[in-house]
This record gives sequence, C-alpha cells and structure tokens, in this order.
Amino acid sequence: MSTIELNKRQETILQIVKENGPITGEHIAERLNLTRATLRPDLAILTMAGFLEARPRVGYFYSGKSGTQLLTDNLAKLYVKDYQSIPVVVNDSISVYDAICMMFLEDVGTMFVTDQQSLLVGVLSRKDLLRASIGGKDLSSIPVNIIMTRMPNIAMCTKDDQLIEVAKKLIEKQIDALPVVKETEGGFEVVGRITKTNITKALVSLATEEL
Ligand code: ADP
Repeated sequence: MSTIELNKRQETILQIVKENGPITGEHIAERLNLTRATLRPDLAILTMAGFLEARPRVGYFYSGKSGTQLLTDNLAKLYVKDYQSIPVVVNDSISVYDAICMMFLEDVGTMFVTDQQSLLVGVLSRKDLLRASIGGKDLSSIPVNIIMTRMPNIAMCTKDDQLIEVAKKLIEKQIDALPVVKETEGGFEVVGRITKTNITKALVSLATEEL
C-alpha cells in the first residue's frame, strides 16, 4: 500500500471511471489522448491501492472506497507477529537495583517479570523503578516483585492479534508496552513485546511501503 497520494492524472482517471465505469483501459486512454501503454502504470497503481477494480473483458470499476476506508482496510492487515520485538525479561527475585541496571543495559522502557517456571508474573516500567528509588531505601535489598504491576492486572496480547487492537489497549490503559504471550498450562510465557515504537514503525511502513 502506498501513501494514498494520487497525482493529477490518477485523480482524473478516477473521475473518468467514477462517471463512466465500467470502462476499458482503451477508452480511458482515448479520453485522455494518451496511449494505453502510458496509462498502464497509473491503472496498476489505482487497482493495487484498491481505488479501482478491474474485471477481464469488462473494464474498470470504481471501488467506492475512500482513502480513509482503504487505510482502515490496510491497518486491519497488520499483525503483532510482523512488528513485535524481543522481550526483556527478568526474574521476580532480582533486586530493584539490578532491574535498574538491566533497564539501562537493555535500553528498554518496560521489562517483564517471570517466576521460576518462566511464566509471566509482572511488569516493570521506568516509573515503577523511579518510585521505588524515592526515599533513600537500599535498592539492592528490595526484590522487584514487591513493586511491580502484577498478574492478573497485566494487559497482554498474542502474536496473532491485530496491531490496531494493541494500539487501542495501550491508549485505554495508558501504558507503553504489552507483552506478547503464549498460553501454556500453568500460565503465560512471554515471547515478545510490542511498544509504542513498534506501532510508530508500523504506521511509517503503511505510509511508505511500495506497491
Ligand atoms: P511509565 O510508568 O514509565 O510511564 P507505563 O506508562 O508503561 O510506563 O506504565 C505505567 C504503569 O502501568 C506502571 O505502573 C506499569 O507497571 C504499568 N504497566 C505497564 N505495562 C503494563 C501492562 N502491559 N499491563 C499492566 N500494567 C502495565
């Protein structure tokens, strides 16, 4: 899907098909005083972007879809599995001090906390760690499991979820990231993470991807 920015000729073609469709490529070319060959790339773009539909031996139809509708259609085709990152996971027994070091080392804003069975038990954000640091307590003696956000209050997603659903959850819960999980017998395994950055990347790919 390209940026839905049509050039003047493409806009004109769209107008012609809207008013005269179904219409063959030949007839569109005639109206524009152009050859069929000159027009071919424009027709291909308009068809692939979903503005026009082509039927063999009948011609081109206007699909009736607006740019916004097409964008919505394309957004719905983006899935977590294609945009997720590697999760940073820590054990629930490590100290707040070590978790802070880990956060800097791994350069992430959210870490996921797992138990001895490698199952998800909590989430640690930057502010969780900052909050624990206020008051001059000995950070190396506080385990993360007493300051983390814990199960069952964790918002999660799976690799087959739509990215748009994740985006909605991030906004609704006012958080920066979701763990991508796989359900197992005892609980949830963390297999990835989706952050606001991943969603921003998806947005950019939607706007620049070649047809
Ligand atoms: P920050 O606290 O650095 O602004 P967030 O906005 O992501 O980062 O986190 C806000 C609060 O929500 C924190 O207490 C954090 O533990 C919690 N949180 C973060 N991600 C999730 C999640 N996926 N599910 C539930 N709570 C979360």
